[in-house]
Amino acid sequence: MATPCRIRRLLVLLAAVAVAASHPAHEFCAAAGGGGGGAGGCGGGGDGTRILIKGGTMVNAHRAEEADVYIEDGVVVAVRPNIPVGDDNVKVIDATGKYVMPGGIDPHTHLEMEFMGTVTIDDFYSGHAAALAGGTTMHIDFVIPVNGNLTAGLESYKHKAEKSAMDYGFHMAITKWNDEVSREMEVMVKEHGINSFKFFMAYKGSLMVTDDLLLQGLQKCKSLGALAMVHAENGDAVAEGQQRMIDLGITGPEGHALSRPPVLEGEATSRAIRLAKFVNTPLYVVHVMSTDAMEEIAKAKREGQRVIGEPVVSGLVLDDSWLWDPDFATASKYVMSPPIREAGHNKALQAALSSGILQEDSQWRKW
Ligand SMILES: [Zn+2]
Repeated sequence: MATPCRIRRLLVLLAAVAVAASHPAHEFCAAAGGGGGGAGGCGGGGDGTRILIKGGTMVNAHRAEEADVYIEDGVVVAVRPNIPVGDDNVKVIDATGKYVMPGGIDPHTHLEMEFMGTVTIDDFYSGHAAALAGGTTMHIDFVIPVNGNLTAGLESYKHKAEKSAMDYGFHMAITKWNDEVSREMEVMVKEHGINSFKFFMAYKGSLMVTDDLLLQGLQKCKSLGALAMVHAENGDAVAEGQQRMIDLGITGPEGHALSRPPVLEGEATSRAIRLAKFVNTPLYVVHVMSTDAMEEIAKAKREGQRVIGEPVVSGLVLDDSWLWDPDFATASKYVMSPPIREAGHNKALQAALSSGILQEDSQWRKW
């Protein structure tokens, strides 16, 4: 099964647990003031919770430092060393010897997604539980329209998310095109806060969009100020590659990678980038798995185009040797699209991530 990717992001070794408090925050705010931006209810007499995380190593995108973190009404209002405890009603958490990090935001998940005759195994509860255990506190899932209908898709995902245990948001996939879809995109942006739309250039016969649809979608995204996202593989060529494998009798997990080589990811990435340039709208390329695709992104960025390339943990650290494991149950666990590539792509993607060619969603580093 070609399970769409699922990024599991790191961290948060220390999770702050909110506690009820009923006193105004004046005294402590005076003590903590000046250390961190944002009023956040400081001095506003808010009756929210107050938490002081003391003695830890605070890690942010730009650096790690010894600092305490003071949180009021769920907002970080001070980050600096040695914040005094000015009030008995502040819950103090001792983080000595620990790292204190922002909760992760995973921008790409597919919980309880119905696809290829099956459903992804994690739902909005089990997936959330696993994410929270690892320090991811928010994610953005992809609503799949129902027979191309965006509103019906959103209703379906709202229902799936009723069992949620953490924060979440939605992107929206666009799987067909007509005036109704165009109108619904506007409704999604203006009434539901969904402002990123994903176009699958792969999965011929199910989710795949043609260049014609992609172009119209890019133009609509531009007019709405929304972000266009692409799953970049040449779906027509993938279908051809799959037929080749079947003709050769290669039907195991290794055939998955062989049927959709890096060149097809590079081609689609290049095409999407050029069409986005033609329309003059930003582009977000999801799960960049190959050097071929990464280099197209690097080139576009060098030329000043606004392209975001998303890496995936499996693409960064694994190689396709797993797909050749003689045990089907083992090998099949490494099937995803685009496929995990042969050794070498992973190192190149790591370098691209560390040099900023690829980006983790920047938000996950913020408080
Ligand atoms: Zn996906």
